[in-house]
Amino acid sequence: MERLQKFIADCGIASRRAAEKLIADGRISVNDDVITTQGIKINPVSDVVKYDGKIIKKCDEKIYIMLNKPKGYISTVKDEQNRKTIMALVTDIGQRIFPIGRLDNNTEGLLLMTNDGTLMQNVLHPKFKVEKTYIARVAGKLSNDELCALRQGIQLSEGMTAPAVVEKLSYDDEFNQAKISITIHEGRNRQVRRMFEAIGHDVLALKRVSFAGLTLHDLKRGKYRMLTQEELERLS
Ligand code: URA
Repeated sequence: MERLQKFIADCGIASRRAAEKLIADGRISVNDDVITTQGIKINPVSDVVKYDGKIIKKCDEKIYIMLNKPKGYISTVKDEQNRKTIMALVTDIGQRIFPIGRLDNNTEGLLLMTNDGTLMQNVLHPKFKVEKTYIARVAGKLSNDELCALRQGIQLSEGMTAPAVVEKLSYDDEFNQAKISITIHEGRNRQVRRMFEAIGHDVLALKRVSFAGLTLHDLKRGKYRMLTQEELERLS
């Protein structure tokens, strides 16, 4: 036996709290009886639960998505200030999914999403040192000493960053801007921006192009796709 609101949440319909509201609003029935009281238990195998008259089932299917996040979207499921979140870009999934890590509002690029909490925890665990590559457009020209410092480690307020792979891609004389590729395996808050800021170069644009060896390929900005089996095996 299982609590009704947990069952609804496990079906990917709503969080447990939101499920309680669906129950209170009379939108859930069990064996065709509308249930409005909280806390009842159901048999998830034999009881028929409906949401707005449609049968809902527990779905254990795991979903793995790659999103090409545009700038201007918060990478959380909900935002307390009601700003646009990435959930607006993955509306037709039919299951609750979560981002694996985060990208800043102003950062674009590769963001994985899943409903597989175990994989999410593994991928984010520092011991696995998952590599993430970013292309940064930064103000000014970087000297060899500065590139060296980025590679060896930068002193941030909470401590030194781990060694990074840094490559100078191009320099635009007219705008005095450099394009740099940087690969890190840590996931500190605003890490790449803060590393460049610490050596006196503001990041003007930032895009994540690779995560754990997976790349965007031709995935358009704002679009998502399911991971292939091969990509999934790389993550597991
Ligand atoms: N580093 C940043 O500064 N921002 C991101 O979104 C990701 C890494």
